[in-house]
Amino acid sequence: MNPLVIALLIIVGIIVLLLAIAVIRAVSIKAKPVEGESKAVFTPEEEEKYARVLSEMIKVPTISKGEGEDKSEFYKLHAVLRELFPNIHESLEMTEIDGNIIYRWQGKDSSLDPILLMGHQDVVPAAETDWKHDPFSGDIEGGCIHGRGAMDCKCTVMAEMAAVEELLAEGFVPERDVYLAYACNEETSGGGAQKLVKYLQDKGIRLCVAMDEGGAIVDDAMPGMSSKCAAVGIVEKGTVNIKFTAKGKGGHSSTPPKNTPFARLSAFVCDVEKKNPFKTVITTPVKYMLSNIAPYLSFPMRLIFGNLWLFKPLLTVLMPKFSPGARAFVTTTVVFTMGEGSKAPNVIPDEAYLIANMRVGTQQSKDECVEILRKIAAKYDIETELLKGFNASRISDPGSDEMKYLKQCVADVFPGYCFTPYYMCGGTDCRHYGAVTDNCLRFTPVYISPSQMAAMHAANESIGSAAVAAGVKFYKYFLRNHK
Ligand SMILES: [Zn+2]
Repeated sequence: MNPLVIALLIIVGIIVLLLAIAVIRAVSIKAKPVEGESKAVFTPEEEEKYARVLSEMIKVPTISKGEGEDKSEFYKLHAVLRELFPNIHESLEMTEIDGNIIYRWQGKDSSLDPILLMGHQDVVPAAETDWKHDPFSGDIEGGCIHGRGAMDCKCTVMAEMAAVEELLAEGFVPERDVYLAYACNEETSGGGAQKLVKYLQDKGIRLCVAMDEGGAIVDDAMPGMSSKCAAVGIVEKGTVNIKFTAKGKGGHSSTPPKNTPFARLSAFVCDVEKKNPFKTVITTPVKYMLSNIAPYLSFPMRLIFGNLWLFKPLLTVLMPKFSPGARAFVTTTVVFTMGEGSKAPNVIPDEAYLIANMRVGTQQSKDECVEILRKIAAKYDIETELLKGFNASRISDPGSDEMKYLKQCVADVFPGYCFTPYYMCGGTDCRHYGAVTDNCLRFTPVYISPSQMAAMHAANESIGSAAVAAGVKFYKYFLRNHK
């Protein structure tokens, strides 16, 4: 036989074999439906009670305003918390640092590394005009609690505190110390979390785990998913703000020259948008995520995600094309968000600038990414200035004992749900706690519907009362069974 034909037959044979292995694997990993009752149930009365508690917390407009802000609303919230959670305020040691609060619940053995549950007290403004309920009414209607902060993230703070409140009433004492930590300026990156971390460091405390808001329980983690998904953020991208300034000769707009500052800035923006200048990589945390959700996907997604050993190169090319969300998982992103030129429509600016927000992935450092943009900007005679920013967080080990324990809790409280580590493209306060623990886990054990998710930092934020009640029971289960 012709050697060329033999070679071709061998190649075809190898491809068929690889595909057959991939198909067999995809069939064998399919998630089996899990029957079973949740180990944490709640009564309709409890659901109603939790909804009322959350409503009271929403009524205090703890809007984060940034540097030098007036903290009076936060002090009002602390007074409301004292009313709502009397057991906590009687039994736990509360420390307040510039509006940020941390509670210590002494366990049986304080020499063990403590657990820390966290969230934030502040909310973003609610200036949108199309709210159906007043954003600070805390209205309870249609099985939901409405208002700014209902989801992000007073439901987390409420569920954690309600769990501790109930355990105290039941006379439960945890094995190790438990801390509850709530900064008051997460939304403006105001440094509250750093102050709480410093407080722990000054006491020489290392935590076994810090659990913050983050991935929630969602329906459509991916198109074609067969179950709800509990996603735990094990890493978060870094954030960088950069200013790009183009200078030129100003003048009257009636006789414009070529290459004005805005023309160069525009060409630069198009250049960056058209060809992504950053590395596109399926990093380890994304790999964990894709392989964990694969068993819950239908064909052909299960075939591809369940066989990353074969399809990773293909996915690396395809993911940026799927959706902006999928793209953000595999590359650093940059988007231009602010800008200014001259002060009048008929005046050519002698200087114009744009500000960009970059979300830095784990595959590249922020300095490397800024340098890439600086080089492109220089081609258009544009100056680059790094305003502020930080790298992606450390990756918490998805195989750690704490992660295994969290997985078991999810399996017990939410049987049959997909559980997966998750690569967070947004930011939380949790990254600061990397200084005092190896396990920064970002998980909100509360179901969030797609429409609720869309209302995050937008009008008509709400959360389901049954979802909140399940969240309370989850934290209770988590604390009660943690060794
Ligand atoms: Zn938040």
